[in-house]
Formats: sequence, C-alpha cells, structure tokens
Amino acid sequence: MRLKLRWARFFTLVGGHWTLAAGHAGYDFVVTIPCCHSECNGSHKLTIRVCDKNHADLIAKHNSLFDIEDMYRDPHPALFGSNPSSTHWQMVHGNGGGYYTVDYWFGDASKLWESAYRD
Ligand SMILES: [Zn+2]
Repeated sequence: MRLKLRWARFFTLVGGHWTLAAGHAGYDFVVTIPCCHSECNGSHKLTIRVCDKNHADLIAKHNSLFDIEDMYRDPHPALFGSNPSSTHWQMVHGNGGGYYTVDYWFGDASKLWESAYRD
C-alpha cells in the first residue's frame, strides 16, 4: 500500500525511531516520538494503524476501537490517515495530555510529508 510506504519515509525524514509492527497484530508501525517535557520519560511510543480516512473519521474509528484505558496505555494506539493532519491518538503528556496529531509534534510535518512522496 503506497500510503504505508509514504508514512515509513516520513518517519525516516523526521528522524524518529520506527519499526514495522511485528508482534502487534492489527498495526503497521511502532514509532517512538522524542519528548523533552520534564514529566515525560524522554519519549512517547505509538502503535500505528494506517487507514486512508480523514481526521473526523479517524477520531470516530479510534473511539469505537479503543476504550479509555487502551488509549492511555503505553504504547498508545494511533490511527494515521492520508496526511499529517489526519492522524489521531490520545496520551498523557507533561502534566496533562489528550488528543494529538502529527502536526502538533512536528512543526514542519506538511513539508516533510511532501518530501516523503515519490512515485
Ligand atoms: Zn511528553
């Protein structure tokens, strides 16, 4: 699937640690996001399922697939759609947490997403 390949290229471009999700049935990637917040332990870990949906559909699907304990358990289940804005997961971060997208973590995500595109 071309979209999965593009996400793999994107993870490489952002310089994060990623692997294929061997041993995590139903997921495509395991990605570690560096975090320098003092209340986090240096990073956050996501198990990612790629599905070609828009942001609103990803949120609805995430809510139907996972209960609140699953969402906040490390590694956090995440749904990644057709671009960095269409991504969704929930986790604790710092003294709070909540809903996140790739755009929140990587300011140049849309530029890197364009760079990750190749025929
Ligand atoms: Zn954090």
